[in-house]
Amino acid sequence: MKLTEILNRETPSISFEVFPPKQDTDFADVESAVRQIAHLRPAFMSVTYGAGGGTSRYTLAIAEELNRTLGVPTLAHLTCVSATRQSVREKIAQIRAAGIENVMALRGDLPANMQPSDRIGWDFPHAVDLVRELRASDANFCIGGACYPEIHPESTDQKADIRYLREKADAGCDFLTTQMFFDNHLLYNFLYKIREAGITVPVVAGIMPITNARQVERAIKLSGSMMPQRFRSLVDRFGSDPAAMSQAGIAYATDQIIDLFANGINHVHVYSMNKPFVAEQITANLSAILGK
Ligand code: FAD
Repeated sequence: MKLTEILNRETPSISFEVFPPKQDTDFADVESAVRQIAHLRPAFMSVTYGAGGGTSRYTLAIAEELNRTLGVPTLAHLTCVSATRQSVREKIAQIRAAGIENVMALRGDLPANMQPSDRIGWDFPHAVDLVRELRASDANFCIGGACYPEIHPESTDQKADIRYLREKADAGCDFLTTQMFFDNHLLYNFLYKIREAGITVPVVAGIMPITNARQVERAIKLSGSMMPQRFRSLVDRFGSDPAAMSQAGIAYATDQIIDLFANGINHVHVYSMNKPFVAEQITANLSAILGK
């Protein structure tokens, strides 16, 4: 199923993200987590892709299992950083052969210490180039792109970030998914600006439930997201008690999701980090709202 069918509905829905194992020995554990999350019947599930392609075969294996065996609409991520046109075309052919209809087109993070000159001659300098490649294939994919309510960490100003986002959307994105954020006002403000800039595709709000104190600094480093004082107080109070922190973090994420639904955002993607209990509790907290 193409995700646009889901994203154009006017009813609230949630989806979950999983990431592939880094090595064969972890595959069974990840597969088990994926099955438990799929059992909750989310609107769809996405499978991330290691920039540089190291874990790409696992992305495809998990996405194919979700799609063909577990019957969950599936979004396979694909990154293009430092990839050649030939290798990207091979990946696109594999995704298609696996029966996957939805692809998240990403650049991927640049390797550490990379200089601008190292990127000269790349076939895919930006995600927009991958969107164009996917659109030019004859697979008729439903294509997603990433967007950043608090601007991408490499961008110096939001106007330029939104200008490039418009270019990416115009190149053929059917929807956009946001980076995690912890203050919904940042999203509402961002949506206002991108709609004003002429970006009209559905925007899926990305929410990361923080279930342990260690995750906080990692999440900030990865995303550059601002932590509201309300959330910091929660970490200060419960961070040293794992069970309490997990409960408080899931409650905070649930509260964010309910506020998003109440304000007309119909679809939320939960960065569930291969944790079935997070997906289960969020689904249970929203059961009446989601009609489950
Ligand atoms: P781009 O859209 O190329 O943007 C990157 C930067 O370049 C931005 O600053 C943008 O303003 C600028 N830019 C864009 N176009 C141009 C242009 N034409 N000229 C000049 N500047 C331009 N990473 C993974 O490795 N695997 C994943 O599975 C993965 N999934 C993700 C899912 C979501 C929802 C999000 C939000 C991020 C994900 N990431 C993933 C991280 C992502 O790869 C990084 O944030 C990466 O640094 C940027 O990717 P992008 O696709 O947004 O790049």
